Amino acid sequence: MRTPATGVKQFLGMLIEGYGGALTDTQKKFAETAYESNERQLNIVNDLLKVAQVDAGKVILTKEKVDLEALVQDVLEEQKTKFTERQQQVTYNNTTKSIMAFVDVRHFRMAIDNIIDNASKYTEPGKNVSVTLSREGGSAIISIEDQGVGIASDDIERIFTKFTRVDNPLSVSVGGSGIGLYWCKKIVELHNGSISVTSVIGKGTTFIIAIPLK
Ligand code: ADP
Repeated sequence: MRTPATGVKQFLGMLIEGYGGALTDTQKKFAETAYESNERQLNIVNDLLKVAQVDAGKVILTKEKVDLEALVQDVLEEQKTKFTERQQQVTYNNTTKSIMAFVDVRHFRMAIDNIIDNASKYTEPGKNVSVTLSREGGSAIISIEDQGVGIASDDIERIFTKFTRVDNPLSVSVGGSGIGLYWCKKIVELHNGSISVTSVIGKGTTFIIAIPLK
């Protein structure tokens, strides 16, 4: 599924870049719209593959000693443009010196990335997100707090269920497949960690990821 969709992306990209000759404004607009649809399709395919892999117990973690502060800062740097486009500010607070943890960088980073992306997605423009790294007992804590639409207490367990989306004022416009948090929870648990959530409708949500440091 991924290979043919990637082929479409490559050739549409070449068309847009003018490798097939100059396009009229309308042709370019159509090609750009097709490119964006194809990107969404690729994201869905990647999500489905990730879930299939985790459900089959085929995720193999390669853990290494990682500076969590650098990892979180890196994710924020990469998402900066998205926050700016949504007229949001993201602040980073470090309450401790660097925290070294044994994690699989690729998977753990994708999980943090997904939760920070959700914080932005489910927060209206002009409001903010704050990310804090701290140490509590023998665990590293990454807390992601937004001022967004919030989640009703009855729905909090459901958001970690596969293919489950919860309706909120932004859910239709931002889109999604309801897979992200299911996958993130599995990955954090494979690191012997946990995810907890507190939320107030209309005020915001805080996701707390705890990872044991031993
Ligand atoms: P998706 O974003 O594709 O719907 P997720 O699994 O990432 O899937 O999230 C499941 C649901 O949890 C979302 O549909 C949304 O209703 C809710 N949700 C996740 N993160 C937040 C957040 N930061 N604020 C409010 N609701 C959230």
